[in-house]
Amino acid sequence: CGIFGVIGVVDAAQFVALGLHALQHRGQEAGGIVTYAPEVGFASARRFGYVRDSFTKASVIETLPGSLGIGHVRYSTAGSKGQTQIRDVQPLFAEFAMGGCAIAHNGNITNAVALKRELIERGSIFQSSSDTECIIHLMARSIQSNIPERIKDALRRVEGAFSIVAMTRSKLIGVRDPLGVRPLMLGRVGDGFALASETCAFDIIGAEFLREVEPGEMVIITADGVESFFPFERQRPRFCVFEHVYFSRPDSVIGGKSVYETRRRIGVELAREAPVEADLVCPVPDSGTPAAIGYSQESGIPYAMGIIRNQYVGRTFIEPAEHIRNMGVRLKLNVNRALIRGKRIVLVDDSVVRGTTSRKIKEMILDAGAREVHFRIASPPTQWPCFYGVDTPEKDKLLASTMSEEQMRAHLGVDSLRFVSLDGLYRAAGEENGRDDARPQYCDACFSGDYPVSPADMIERGFQL
Ligand code: 5GP
Ligand code: SF4
Ligand code: MG
Repeated sequence: CGIFGVIGVVDAAQFVALGLHALQHRGQEAGGIVTYAPEVGFASARRFGYVRDSFTKASVIETLPGSLGIGHVRYSTAGSKGQTQIRDVQPLFAEFAMGGCAIAHNGNITNAVALKRELIERGSIFQSSSDTECIIHLMARSIQSNIPERIKDALRRVEGAFSIVAMTRSKLIGVRDPLGVRPLMLGRVGDGFALASETCAFDIIGAEFLREVEPGEMVIITADGVESFFPFERQRPRFCVFEHVYFSRPDSVIGGKSVYETRRRIGVELAREAPVEADLVCPVPDSGTPAAIGYSQESGIPYAMGIIRNQYVGRTFIEPAEHIRNMGVRLKLNVNRALIRGKRIVLVDDSVVRGTTSRKIKEMILDAGAREVHFRIASPPTQWPCFYGVDTPEKDKLLASTMSEEQMRAHLGVDSLRFVSLDGLYRAAGEENGRDDARPQYCDACFSGDYPVSPADMIERGFQL
């Protein structure tokens, strides 16, 4: 998901809408905005679909007055079942004795099932299926006299990955879990401040990127400035390495590193680790593009757009039904036949999850008369599900968890298939000596099975580590 907040600007809702639009790649299912103005109190709007289709309308934005606002774009992840309901669309809002509070959450609470059971037994009435609602009920039970303290109390009970943007009548609040699995950035806009999942959201509103909210940090922002707290026990950070591979936008900066540059360097690593004789390097757009550029630069094989992407299709979110996923690929991607014919092609994509995309693309490329197809993947084999806010299917649906690399190559029907190594990925992300196995610098559980936070709910449901 994508989260955004702003304080101290005229018409906060417009800034939030723009920020969410820049974060649309982090969630396409639905979006919501909450604002506060002293004359009217809290106002909120929640809509299915793209931000640009609802939140650019004056009729919607005019209902959201005030100089303080937060927003969320949603993408449902592990644990969520069936169709998103409007009541699951964030920000969530609750009225406490000391005033209202709205919360937007990116990540996944790994002990939500146990927390929810405990809270329901003690009388809480849940209104949504969202794990985030646990935070509201934990806040309601806190004996602290102000909302920021209640948020701290609640979050100390929560396990898993959370980047949070919250607001009261007068404060904008940002929090990151102690491992800092999901990103959260702090920016300056005019005389005010903004919080966003990624720096690309600051560019669109003309904000200046100040710094990251640190893992385990809580920032409380008012018109007067930013206060910083560290309410949790300190831990070694484990940022999500897959944000660098796929999830974030390439024009964002994370950990002081350009996401585009990291992806390009993954391509360089791939070319060194898995060279091949070929005529063209082609990306699977858009997710494979920077790595393909890096592969081409390092190998000297010319780069070309062998596959063209229809710009009117968003990210093909992992569709639950096989036939829709198959359709999705054709709606989105088409082969540039004139270019491909008779050539040996290196195809670069960011990841293989179920293998649906790769298989379809290989068919399309061979249909177009390619002589050879060599797949190069800019991440290690995805063998484990993510429980921290990225939507991967169950383990047995992950191609790499049921097949060896040679079996995958045969299944996809390509001449060769190679993945970048975990060390190569770490080197590309700025860790010169690769992965430190004793103290891994990132979360890479979907590739390694090394889960930095126990996925307690999933273990309870029978998941085997
Ligand atoms: P597959 O077709 O193998 O199941 O999925 C691989 C494709 O899905 C890649 O092109 C990659 O860009 C994309 N992908 C990887 N991870 C995710 C994710 O978490 N969500 C969505 N929507 N797409 C993903
Ligand atoms: Fe990121 Fe993978 Fe860790 Fe999930 S399991 S947080 S996708 S690195
Ligand atoms: Mg892709």
